[in-house]
Amino acid sequence: MYGYETFHEKLAEGLIANVRGGNPPHAYIFEGDAGLGLFETARLFAASLACNADNAPCGVCNSCVSAKAESNPDIIVIKPEDKKKSISVEQMREMISDAYIKPFLAKRKVYIFADAGIATESAQNAILKLIEEPPEYAVFILICDNADLLLETIRSRCVKIRFSPLSEEKMLEYVESISPNNSKREFIVRYSAGIPQNAKNIIEDESFDRIRTETVKRLPLLFSQRKLTAYNLADFVEENKDNAALILSLWAGLMRDIIFIHQDSVKLITNGDYERELTEVAARVEERAAVKALESIMHAEEMLRRYVSLRALVLKMALSIKPNW
Ligand SMILES: [Zn+2]
Repeated sequence: MYGYETFHEKLAEGLIANVRGGNPPHAYIFEGDAGLGLFETARLFAASLACNADNAPCGVCNSCVSAKAESNPDIIVIKPEDKKKSISVEQMREMISDAYIKPFLAKRKVYIFADAGIATESAQNAILKLIEEPPEYAVFILICDNADLLLETIRSRCVKIRFSPLSEEKMLEYVESISPNNSKREFIVRYSAGIPQNAKNIIEDESFDRIRTETVKRLPLLFSQRKLTAYNLADFVEENKDNAALILSLWAGLMRDIIFIHQDSVKLITNGDYERELTEVAARVEERAAVKALESIMHAEEMLRRYVSLRALVLKMALSIKPNW
């Protein structure tokens, strides 16, 4: 759409119609899962807001051309500085003083917060006043996966736009467009759960098929109850450390499929290309055992996630401790 890959044409059309109408609100929250193209839609919307013509985004004015090239000085993307996990108060202060300088070449000045949910509370407080009484040319787009992470005072001043996962039909279309005649498209669509970026990652990741094949092969071993087998499974995950989360999520998906098979809902399974293998395991494993297995795998996934965020938490803590201020 206008040369931007937005997966939410209707939403974008509505936003653009608002711009053409002349009086768009000053602050927005774009809420939705990562990988749904929120940032790209924000870029398109920003280009429309910044466009100098009536039929925004015209695509030919100075502002539109530089917006497309990501060099428009009036479209400012705010994200954490290198290696930092959150947007700092200093970054916010810089942005606030910048916001009082008129646009350089565009009609409006647009600030896109690439991941507003990770802004610290004080950083959010710092921009609150600006969002309350913005300069007439300024617009703010706060992107986040969960608007509840933002302060209530900020939320109440923004128009919230919710991005939903794509339908299976739309996902099929997308997969077909980036990988025509892919023999695993049904699996890719189901596994991606409506998130185009997930599908793209699977298609582009050369090790994905290998990992998946090996994960399926080890599925029966999960029920062996032998210590030696458990060691082997641990070795397997350890050898593929970078893909540990993927392996666990694949096992969880396979286990859900086994449960579906028990419930006579084969139509709902994600790993349709492994239906034979899954049916074999299902024949040996009771439904209740599969449910328990799924719980164990999900618990392991949770532990893995916590470990990752714990590390991030300690990193942030340690980096904020200084001998003198
Ligand atoms: Zn334009």
